[in-house]
Amino acid sequence: MTKILYVEDDPSSQRLVQRILTSEGYEVTIADNGLAGIEAAEREKPDLVLMDINISNLDGYEVTTRIRMVEGLENVPIIAVTAATLRGDRERALVAGCNGYIPKPIDVDKFPEQIKAYLVGQEDSVGTPEEQAQYLLEYNRRLVSRLEENVRELQKANEELKRTEKMKSDFVVLAGHELRTPLTVIYGYLQILLVNPAIPGDITQEGSPRHLLHKVSEAVERLSQVIQDILNVSLIAANRLDLSHEPVFLNSVVQSVLHNLRSFGPQRQLIFELGGGLKKVPVIEGDPRRLHQALWNIFSNAIKYTPDGGTITVDAETLDDVVHLWIQDTGVGIPQEELANIFERFYVLEDTALHRSSKTAFKGGGLGLGLAVSKGIIEAHNGKVWAESPGYDEEALPGSTFHVLLPIGDPFSKVESDRKG
Ligand code: ADP
Repeated sequence: MTKILYVEDDPSSQRLVQRILTSEGYEVTIADNGLAGIEAAEREKPDLVLMDINISNLDGYEVTTRIRMVEGLENVPIIAVTAATLRGDRERALVAGCNGYIPKPIDVDKFPEQIKAYLVGQEDSVGTPEEQAQYLLEYNRRLVSRLEENVRELQKANEELKRTEKMKSDFVVLAGHELRTPLTVIYGYLQILLVNPAIPGDITQEGSPRHLLHKVSEAVERLSQVIQDILNVSLIAANRLDLSHEPVFLNSVVQSVLHNLRSFGPQRQLIFELGGGLKKVPVIEGDPRRLHQALWNIFSNAIKYTPDGGTITVDAETLDDVVHLWIQDTGVGIPQEELANIFERFYVLEDTALHRSSKTAFKGGGLGLGLAVSKGIIEAHNGKVWAESPGYDEEALPGSTFHVLLPIGDPFSKVESDRKG
């Protein structure tokens, strides 16, 4: 069946032309704007295109020029159907690549004949070669000024986007600081209360005042972790993470992270294994507190995604000018196709409906910020982080391994020159 594509935004014209052509046995596709017209032409490869000129985004002249560039449509008849009846409109359509011109309103009786003629090769002509050259020049100039207009608009929109992005990141950073300050006070006083002998009970004694205070303190700690993650991820995204330059003893950082998390070990019956390589790694330069956090996030995931009874192993080696650290767990693993995505902001694999807000309970949830923060911190040290896993399996527990590379020597020379560049 002969296929006709009609690019037109006016519904009544669409209906009229569709009715006439369908009753003549043609298959008609309608596109109601310029870009949709190009897509439909590429997809349908029509035998003839009817083109309205005044349509949105790209106009009919531009769509015609573009359709001529589609493979297989170099010679397809394209007919301008338009109410534009100013002097030169017909010529403009022809130099843009149309083969013919049918003025609107269409003559219902003549229309099928006109289409037939164009289908068998009728070609309208512009006039003398001089006239043609003149119209072509005019068309080119119009295209360039349209392009300029669009580039200006895009530039403006881009600046606006940057401005709102900066406002957003300023807001998050400010809000983060504002939230953190009172939390630090609350946390501090809770610690004072917890060691006050006047507070009755024991933290292990369910329901006792001290136990309740301990629970509050844990919740406050969790809250400040979330705020810290949000704050860091905004700073990283805005390239505003300031790192201190100090000697970093990676072995001590790992020990301190483990000390911090070990309390969950007995509760969760997890085994932590430390390889001998850690003690041998050289001192590197960087921000020990940020690196602590980067590793804390990776370790807490290992705990979170490993069922009770599992093992978490950490070891390191020195390779030329980098330290290679790896953290391996015997947990549920990660689907291969997700390995790169998990480092993106807000990326969580689990079903959010089953979300449990704990960083250390088995399969507890998070905001999907932990690994983005780790990656940001490690990359700010000019290092690399990636994950390996054979796949996700809650029964077979294939486990995951997180690898971290950190340069020995001054890691900032390159990062800072990159930032300045
Ligand atoms: P969250 O705050 O949700 O833990 P992360 O950025 O820390 O976010 O991790 C992103 C996702 O990567 C997690 O939701 C989880 O599905 C997956 N993931 C991270 N570490 C592990 C791991 N050790 N084992 C299995 N899955 C993991």
